[in-house]
Amino acid sequence: MTQVESPVTPAPTLSSFRRVVVKVGSSLLVDQARGEVKRDWLEALADDIASLHRDGRDVLVVSSGSIALGRTVLKLPRGPLRLEDSQAAAAVGQIALARIWAEVLSARGITAGQILVTLNDTEERRRYLNARATIGRLVEMRAVPVINENDTVATTEIRYGDNDRLAARVATMASADLLVLLSDIDGLYTAPPHENPDARLIPVVPRISAQIEAMAGGAASELSRGGMRTKVEAAKIAVGGGTHMVIADGRPRHPIQRIVDGANCTWFLTPSNPVTARKKWIAGSLEPRGTVHVDAGAARALMRGGSLLPAGVTLVEGAFARGDCVLIRDAGGAEIGRGLVAYDAAEAGQLVGRNSRDIESVLGAPGRAQMIHRDDMALVGD
Ligand code: GLU
Repeated sequence: MTQVESPVTPAPTLSSFRRVVVKVGSSLLVDQARGEVKRDWLEALADDIASLHRDGRDVLVVSSGSIALGRTVLKLPRGPLRLEDSQAAAAVGQIALARIWAEVLSARGITAGQILVTLNDTEERRRYLNARATIGRLVEMRAVPVINENDTVATTEIRYGDNDRLAARVATMASADLLVLLSDIDGLYTAPPHENPDARLIPVVPRISAQIEAMAGGAASELSRGGMRTKVEAAKIAVGGGTHMVIADGRPRHPIQRIVDGANCTWFLTPSNPVTARKKWIAGSLEPRGTVHVDAGAARALMRGGSLLPAGVTLVEGAFARGDCVLIRDAGGAEIGRGLVAYDAAEAGQLVGRNSRDIESVLGAPGRAQMIHRDDMALVGD
């Protein structure tokens, strides 16, 4: 029990993070009895988000609530819904959810952008690159993406169903260094606190051991799909992708400010960071589907930290699709790295040696300036 008894690892401070994903559950956001958004609470949370944003951080929101809001409007019965009813509820509720987020953020000078994702958008590399690029562009422009699962089209087989794991995938996909899970409990306890008076909160989890997983147990409330188990599953995804995660009580007003002020919470620490974890994933976990040969100038540019442009490519080999992992070889044939390629093999072949300015005229449609973006690349020795 040593790691639980005496956490030697100190909890990080919120100010040390650069890109933060805040996950808000339905039971926090929606007044169950009235089926409406808890406006005062949301205004206070929006203040906290605006303060993170003002300090120069990138902020992303993963917000549940579409089904909880829509089911009231449609007067659906309490209890579990049939799939088509939850899809219908989500269709109605998501409009209201997006509007209210846009309103509260805009009142603080922040532009919101709605992104609805399905499991495939985060798990299939080609689509993953699209979602990642859109999120990246929005935060570059200082907008706050407000993300939810696309519950209107998600079916049982292809849905997350809980926004805890969705938020963790979004956080790693967006290379966020922190995920804040606002919950209706202030953290992970050694035992369920409502059943066991001796249960103690664990402030820091340096590593997710079998013992930690056992503490998570089961249980979920009617409105929020995720119990502690899905939160620990989310933590595994997050820390594996180089993202720290904190579970905190979202019920009081200004829940993020409360973390800063030292409120109870549980930190799950990653030994890595998003850049290293992503490079490891590209270098080690993916089967290369082809090869891109580059000239000496491009090889030098890559070593200096640049992206691979079509102009520096001399030959492409293999039947790869956009988003696949390919080997990068220098003029002597040595592997200098691997990366996720932004074009299918046929398009990449047409772009060999071409200036990025010519992409639109060569392909007949605009495309990305880089054949392999720097962030999608792991060089040998990286
Ligand atoms: N995506 C669902 C919604 O917005 C909620 C899933 C969850 O509560 O975790 O209603």
